[in-house]
Parts: sequence; C-alpha cells; structure tokens
Amino acid sequence: MKFLDKLRAGIAHFMSGRYGTDQLGFTMVISALIVTFIGAITGARTVCTVIADVLLVLCFVRMLSKDRPKRARENQIFLQKTAGVRRGISEWWNRMKNMRKYHYYTCPKCHKKLRVPRGVGHITITCRGCGEKFDRKA
Ligand SMILES: [Zn+2]
Repeated sequence: MKFLDKLRAGIAHFMSGRYGTDQLGFTMVISALIVTFIGAITGARTVCTVIADVLLVLCFVRMLSKDRPKRARENQIFLQKTAGVRRGISEWWNRMKNMRKYHYYTCPKCHKKLRVPRGVGHITITCRGCGEKFDRKA
C-alpha cells in the first residue's frame, strides 16, 4: 500500500502543470484504434501501424505538454470544427437508443426532425417548427 501511495504521489507530481487529457486526445486514441483495426482487416498493416503510432505519440506529447493554453486552443478548434459531426453522431445514438419507443419523421415542409411514440396507429403529426400537419402511421 505504501508503494502504491508513493507511486500515485509521484505520478501526481510528474503530471502537475501538464495538460492531461481532453476530447482531441481521446479522439486521437480512438482514431488510432480504428486505423489499427482497418490495417488488420485490409492487410495494409505497416502503413496503418505508422499512422496509429504517430497519432498515439502526438496524443502523449499533448498530454505531457506544459503549454496548457496552446493545447486548450487546439482542443477548442477541434471542438468547433467537429461540432456538426458530433451533433450528428449524438442524434444517431439517441435514435438507436429510443428506436423501440419512438418513430422519427421529417417534416415535409421545413425538414425538422420529429419524434412520435410508437404504437399509436394512424395519427396527424403537427410540426413544432412550422405548424405543418401530415398523417403517418406510428
Ligand atoms: Zn415543419
């Protein structure tokens, strides 16, 4: 126990003032895993391993960096550039989670996405965005 406490304190001391993890770093690690997987199934192992290693090294360099404002700026730019993609993934994930409870429709007039409970039969849906009414089976 004493050894683990010393190790924990040593790591905390080493990491103090360093940037640590963020969304960009997490995405780099996940990307490295995906690239490694793609390399394994396509046979392009060497190229994919190099790409994955570069991503992991960059991730570690960012984690251990003491230039915290610069790393935070990089993460902010990453979050701004990927906002649409992240929103799309989040919406898709919510749809997958709720697909047994809800039907999803798109308003024919304003293309807003609408959620309707399943199993209510034929209903008239009123769009919350534009007020358009249309009939569907839910
Ligand atoms: Zn509408």
